[in-house]
Amino acid sequence: MTRFIFITGGVVSSLGKGLAMAALGALLQARGYSVRLRKLDPYLNVDPGTMSPYQHGEVYVTEDGAETDLDLGHYERFTGVPSRRSDNVTAGRIYQKVLERERRGDFLGGTVQVIPHVTDAIKQFVLADTESTDFLLCEIGGTVGDIESLPFLEAIRQLGNELGRERTIFVHVTLVPYIAAAGELKTKPTQHSVKELRSIGIQPDVLLCRSERPVPESERKKIALFCNVPERAVIQALDASSIYQVPLAYHEEGFDRQVLQGFGLEAAPAPELGRWREIVARLVAPEGRVKVAVVGKYTHLRDAYKSLAEALTHGGIANNVKVDLAWIDAEVFESQDAVLHLDDVHGILVPGGFGERGTEGKIAAAGFARQRRVPYFGICFGMQMAVIEAARNMAGLAGAGSTEFGPCAEPVVGLLTEWRRGNATERRQAGGNLGGTMRLGNYDCLLAEHSLARAIYGQPMVAERHRHRYEVNINYRERLSEVGLNFSGMSPDGLLPEIMEIPAHPWFLGVQFHPELKSKPFKPHPLFASFIKAAVEQSRLV
Ligand code: GLN
Repeated sequence: MTRFIFITGGVVSSLGKGLAMAALGALLQARGYSVRLRKLDPYLNVDPGTMSPYQHGEVYVTEDGAETDLDLGHYERFTGVPSRRSDNVTAGRIYQKVLERERRGDFLGGTVQVIPHVTDAIKQFVLADTESTDFLLCEIGGTVGDIESLPFLEAIRQLGNELGRERTIFVHVTLVPYIAAAGELKTKPTQHSVKELRSIGIQPDVLLCRSERPVPESERKKIALFCNVPERAVIQALDASSIYQVPLAYHEEGFDRQVLQGFGLEAAPAPELGRWREIVARLVAPEGRVKVAVVGKYTHLRDAYKSLAEALTHGGIANNVKVDLAWIDAEVFESQDAVLHLDDVHGILVPGGFGERGTEGKIAAAGFARQRRVPYFGICFGMQMAVIEAARNMAGLAGAGSTEFGPCAEPVVGLLTEWRRGNATERRQAGGNLGGTMRLGNYDCLLAEHSLARAIYGQPMVAERHRHRYEVNINYRERLSEVGLNFSGMSPDGLLPEIMEIPAHPWFLGVQFHPELKSKPFKPHPLFASFIKAAVEQSRLV
């Protein structure tokens, strides 16, 4: 029997609702339960794939090729459970489904309405694909009080009734702000947020109170009284110095115990938190530090590179070092020398990206890393830029470029309109829809013997997640390998370069996929662990 935990947020956004849910998932798992984590997003885009990182942060890609909210990345990093297409839905997708059915005539002449048709579609989504899971944790995006989230809140209210008290719990994440002028924590915003929730028929069972200062017992009593919850269900959630401290911190405050009590599971097994203690111990007391430059376009907006920053941290955990990140806007290299910014770094990473702005700067950064023998890690766009740099400056192909920015003399990176997925062929058109049409999700990659990639992975074949439209052009393989750049990972049909490396360089590797999406604190991705190891070696040289 699957039990359902619904998590809503109040007062303001950015309270770390997604993290709180990921941490709760990890805590339940640590007690031996199986979990699935899911998110309902109230906006109207069909998925976040077409949204700018400025709007929405990173797009997290699942194994089965869905472009989803970045919170799913937290869920996966904390629980290790691979998310699926069925774990994230938007209001846009729900309406699209309902309207498709309306056009087909499925409603037999009836009036199509938010209640029951939209709410039914939401409920179906929540209940689908949950078999054999002990707990389904479901986050409702947005803040209580938003017009957009109403159909979602109504749907979970109905589910609460239909499934019954013993199978549903409502957790509300709220803010208890500190007002410096008064020298006090204020509970009123929480009271109002819960009042709003109760006015639409949802009585929260557990309140997770985010606060920068400890919430005294008197204030917890007050919140309990006004919000109609037992005092022990008012959980204090203080800011943590690392997100990986959150499961331990919330456990100390009794978060998971309270949720289990709500289900009447008082006798649940105690959690096995050893792995979280180990991670925190390594983060708190690293044996050294390395500095890695991330040369990208959205460098002032960290959410755009969420998984990447976490994967680099995991690489640090694997090597017992702290990884200091220097976020550098690629455009600076178009007017200034790379030496000014990259001279003291132990590794250079060029992440994924789209569009022409900043590309020459990324190419310059790859060139700097190659010539100065600084470890270089190119991810997706970062691999494409490294290949262009090598084509121009090692193979002498001055006109080397990517057709993403228009026609060029030497299309070293080109648009792909057809490729194999298992036994099927996927096709795209140059002028086709932008949404959901990239090469998305898991694809296999064969690793060449005696290559760095093969040595790092320690196996002949891997599957990694993709999200791109352009590909490195296989026709340049010979000319590049003559000058020392090899394709060490290929799609199984031998047509798509998946990994490139320069064997004469201490560590120069580019991958067409996004390994950062798979890295976990308790299982750092081998490529990130190896890259940071190379950076540690570099730090001993400079
Ligand atoms: N813009 C490039 C492409 O579409 C790279 C995409 C990426 O880095 N995710 O192929």
